[in-house]
Amino acid sequence: MSKGEVDASKLTAHLPRERGKCICPLCGDPKPDTWHYHTQCSFTSHLWAETLGAVDSLLAGICSLKEYDASLPKKLVEWFEESFEDVVGMDSVDICNATPGSGSPADALNWTGLHAWPFLLCTPKTLHTFLKVPGRPTSSLLLIFPAGRFPKGTTSVKKLKNGKSIKQEFTSYESEDICLVLLRNARQLPVPTKEALEELVEVIALSVLLGTWGLTLAWGKERFPLDNVRTGLGDQLLLETGFFSSPCSAYSLAGMAPLTHVARASAQSHRRESGSVPFTALA
Ligand SMILES: [Zn+2]
Repeated sequence: MSKGEVDASKLTAHLPRERGKCICPLCGDPKPDTWHYHTQCSFTSHLWAETLGAVDSLLAGICSLKEYDASLPKKLVEWFEESFEDVVGMDSVDICNATPGSGSPADALNWTGLHAWPFLLCTPKTLHTFLKVPGRPTSSLLLIFPAGRFPKGTTSVKKLKNGKSIKQEFTSYESEDICLVLLRNARQLPVPTKEALEELVEVIALSVLLGTWGLTLAWGKERFPLDNVRTGLGDQLLLETGFFSSPCSAYSLAGMAPLTHVARASAQSHRRESGSVPFTALA
């Protein structure tokens, strides 16, 4: 075969046909369009499961605009306590919320907690100062929430509805990065399990703007991206958007991620408070 000539047999292998029509070269499906590759083909399921996880978390994070969660620091502590219960025991974890929105307690820099496993939530500037304190405990920076995404309170916005001016409450967010710091060496602990990471995503996703998008958990030398973790709560939110014309088409092949107890509790509490699930409450 001369240079530049197309080898038809190789082309056929890449673009197989049945009765003259293209079929998916991976699974043989008769309709190999982008919808098929992105939502249905079992051979690309690992890729679209990651995409679903990212979209799930983004959707959940948008819900935080209308559902201010003041208990996020407490929930982060509870997640840690439950995930490492065998090592740390119960009632051994505490957190100092030194974010600007919390009023930055004056003793934040001296704060080591009364418990065996203390946490600090603060800006990078406060952390930088803390790291210079003589005799400070060994500390591990676990997470950084980007500026504009960590909830700090509510703000009301005026808007017109049926010709009347009404006030609507929205969540306000910290204008600086917020660091979650464990004032101990995280290497003393085992790395979080897959289930623990899913629970952490569910704790963060509903309270932080844009969910876990771009967030990575640091644990000793390990790094765990949190924005591609698929959770049952996220799957439910995605189904309720109606983006998928047929729910079965997107979920039957991969199977929905199971609901963790955090997801069940979150969904129930949102239903109780708003009479609806989080995403539909935005409408
Ligand atoms: Zn296919």
